[in-house]
Amino acid sequence: LLTMKIVVLKESPPETRIAMTPQVAQKLVKLGVEVEVEVGLGEALGFTDASFFEAGATLKKDRRELLQSADIILRVQKPTSNEISLLKKGALYISFLNPFEEGPLLSALKKQGALAISLQMLPRTTLAQKMDALSSQASLAGYAAVIEAAKETYKVFPMMTTPAGTISPVKVFVVGAGVAGLQAIATAKRLGAIVEAFDTRPVVEEQVKSLGAKFLKIDLGEIGQTKEGYAKPLTEEQLAKQQEAMAKSCAEADIVITTAQVFGKKAPLLITQSMITKMSPGSVIVDLAIESGGNVQGSKLGETIVTHGVKILGIPNLPGTVAQDASKMYAGNLYHLLHHLLTKGKEDPLFKDALICS
Ligand code: NAD
Repeated sequence: LLTMKIVVLKESPPETRIAMTPQVAQKLVKLGVEVEVEVGLGEALGFTDASFFEAGATLKKDRRELLQSADIILRVQKPTSNEISLLKKGALYISFLNPFEEGPLLSALKKQGALAISLQMLPRTTLAQKMDALSSQASLAGYAAVIEAAKETYKVFPMMTTPAGTISPVKVFVVGAGVAGLQAIATAKRLGAIVEAFDTRPVVEEQVKSLGAKFLKIDLGEIGQTKEGYAKPLTEEQLAKQQEAMAKSCAEADIVITTAQVFGKKAPLLITQSMITKMSPGSVIVDLAIESGGNVQGSKLGETIVTHGVKILGIPNLPGTVAQDASKMYAGNLYHLLHHLLTKGKEDPLFKDALICS
C-alpha cells in the first residue's frame, strides 16, 4: 500500500468537474497511499493547490511525469491516446469510459497493458451504492435540469397570491423517474410546482407518489425491468401507446423534463414533434437524455431549439453546471471504490464487469 501512487489529472474543457477534493485526498493519504495532483486541478472550483498540499498531496506540473509514475489514475473523463501511451504496464485508469461506444480506446488501453475501471459498469448493488458515480451525478443532473428550466420559463414556480392577482403554480411533467427523474420531481416540488411523472417500471409509482407527485398510469402490457433494475426497451407498439397517452400531460405542462434511458442502448424517442405542437408557446422541455441520443424529437446537444414557441434544451453535462458539489460527490464515490479495491483487491467480484481492460 505504501508504495501505491494515486495520480489525479486535470480535465479537458468542456468538462468542469474534477475527480478529487482536498478532503478526499486527505482521507486517501490517511489510508497510506501517495496522492499526486496536477497543479491547478481545482482552482476554478475553489479547491486551491494550497488546500491539496495541506491535505498531504504532492502537486506536480508535468503531466507526462505524472502519467509515467502512476499506479492508479483518477479522472472524470477518458484519457487521450497520447496519455494512454505513457501509462505503466499494470497501471489502473478509473473514470467514466462509455465502454459501449469506445472500442478503440479500450483496445489502446489493453495494448498498453493498462487496466481500466469504467464507473458506468459498477453493479448498482447496495454494497456499491457509495461508489455509484452514475447515481450521484444523475441526481445532480435532475436537480440542475429543473434549475435550467426555471431560468428559461417565463413563469414562476410557486403559487403566489398577491393584491395584483393570483399566480398559479407551474405544471411540470417528468418522464423517466429513475435517479435523475426522482431528484427532478423533488426539486420541482420544493419550488412549488404541481408535478406529474411517468416511468415504464411499475415499482416507481410509489416512489413518485411519496414525493407528492402524481403518477401517470399507462397500460403498456408486459414491461418490467432487468435483474439489475434497469428498464427494458419497449416494442414499437408500446412506444406508440406511451406517446399517445403522454400527449395530454405534455400539452398541459409548462415544463417537461425527460430522463428516460435504457442501459447500454440509445435513449428512446418519447416526445414527438406532433406532441410538441400541442404544447403552449413559452413551454420548456429539458432533454436530460441528450447525451445518449435524446428523448425529444429535434433536440440538439449544446443547443436550445425553439419549435412552435416551445424551447427544447439540450444541455450537455448537467452535473457540470454544479461542478463543485458534483466533484465532491464524485471524489467521495472514488474514495469508497479505492477503499474497497485496496482492501479487497481487483479480483473481488464487485469489479467483474467494471474492470473492462484486464
Ligand atoms: P436510467 O438512467 O437507466 O433510466 C432513467 C429512467 O428512465 C429509469 O427509471 C427507466 O425506468 C426510465 N425509462 C426507460 N425507458 C422509459 C420509457 N420508455 N418511458 C419512461 N421512462 C423510461 O436509470 P437509473 O436512474 O440509473 O436507475 C435505474 C435503476 O437502478 C433504478 O431501478 C434505480 O432504482 C436502480 N438503482 C439502484 C441502485 C442501488 O440499489 N444501489 C443505485 C442506483 C440506481
